[in-house]
Amino acid sequence: MGTHLAGKVAIVTGGGRGIGRAIAIRLAADGADVVVADLNAATAAGVAREIAALERRAADVDVDVASAEGRRRLVAAAINAFGRLDILVNNAGIIRVNRPQDVTEEEWDQVMNVNCKAVFFTCVAARPHLAASGRGRIINVASIAAKLATPFWAPYGVSKAGVISLTRSLAVAFAPDRIHVNCLCPGPVETAMWAQINEEGAPRMGLPRGEFTRMRLQSTPLGRLAQPEDVAGVAGFLCSPDADYMTGQAINVSGGMMVH
Ligand code: NAD
Repeated sequence: MGTHLAGKVAIVTGGGRGIGRAIAIRLAADGADVVVADLNAATAAGVAREIAALERRAADVDVDVASAEGRRRLVAAAINAFGRLDILVNNAGIIRVNRPQDVTEEEWDQVMNVNCKAVFFTCVAARPHLAASGRGRIINVASIAAKLATPFWAPYGVSKAGVISLTRSLAVAFAPDRIHVNCLCPGPVETAMWAQINEEGAPRMGLPRGEFTRMRLQSTPLGRLAQPEDVAGVAGFLCSPDADYMTGQAINVSGGMMVH
C-alpha cells in the first residue's frame, strides 16, 4: 500500500464484484484514480462509491466488453473523466460448466468473446493512451484453467490459454511503447463465480454439492481457497515500481496448486 500510483488512472473491467472489485480497491489504495467498468451498472457504481470513500477519484461505466462499441466507451470513459490512462486490468470473465458434448457453438462463442477476444481488442484500444502514459501497465486475468485439463469447462480453458498467449504477444509488441503486459492465473477464488461452479456445475460433474471445493482444497498446499484480495495483492505488485522489469509473464496465484 502507498501512494506510488498517485496521479495514475486505471480501468478495471468486471470491477463491480469479486476479483475485479478487490483489484479496483487495491489500486485506489495505492493512489490511483479508477474507472470501474461492469455489465452491472449498480455494482460498478457501488464500487466507485467505495473508492471515493478512500478519497480517490472514481468513475463507473456500464459496458459489455464483448462489444466493440462497449470497448470504445470504456476507454473514452477514462479519458473523459480523468484525461489519461496508465493501467488497464482486463478482469471481466464468464464460465459455463458443461461436458464437451453438451457445449453449444453459441456458448463457445460467448465464452471466447468475453474472456479472450475482448481482452485482445481492449488492449489494442487502450494502447495509444497507455503509450502516452510512458509507463503503461496491462494486467489480464487468466486462470490456472489455462494450464489444466478442463473436462467440464473446455471453452473456458481455451479462452484463458488464449489470454496467456495474447499477453506474451502483446508484451513484445507493446514493449517499445513502454507498456508492460502480464497476466495472472488464479486458482479457485471465493467469489460469485466460484459459487456458480459449485452450485450449477457440481451436478453436471456428477458431484455432490461442496465436493468440488473439497477436492480443490485437497490439492492446494496452502490449505485454503484464495480470497479476491490475494489476487489483488499480486495485481498491485505488478503495477508497482518493484515489477518494472517484468513483462510477458503468466503468474500463478493458486496457493501452490499450480507450480509451472
Ligand atoms: P465474478 O463472476 O464474481 O465477477 C465477474 C464480474 O465481471 C461481474 O461483476 C460481471 O458482471 C462482470 N462481467 C462479466 N461479463 C462481462 C462483460 N461482458 N462486460 C463487462 N463486465 C462483465 O467473477 P470473479 O470470480 O471475480 O472472476 C474475475 C476474473 O477472474 C474472471 O476473468 C475469471 O475468469 C477469473 N478467475 C476466477 C477464478 C475464481 O475461482 N473465481 C479463478 C481463476 C480466474
